[in-house]
Amino acid sequence: MADLEASYLPWQASVLQRALKLKFEQRLPHAVMIDSASEMDISAFIMHLAMLLLCDQAQDLSPCGSCEACRRAR
Ligand SMILES: [Zn+2]
Repeated sequence: MADLEASYLPWQASVLQRALKLKFEQRLPHAVMIDSASEMDISAFIMHLAMLLLCDQAQDLSPCGSCEACRRAR
């Protein structure tokens, strides 16, 4: 996988919070469609979301970056 930086913008936090809530409730859907109303590149946000959902030690809406799942994602 290409080395893509994972990050999010402040207004994307609510999406991350909802995704984490679904993860903790074990109600994650098998697929998610993400669309951007602008032409802004959202690949960093998508990477952040994927890592956050896979991470075993996520804190404050951020993946730890060092667990097995995070290392594999990079
Ligand atoms: Zn991690």
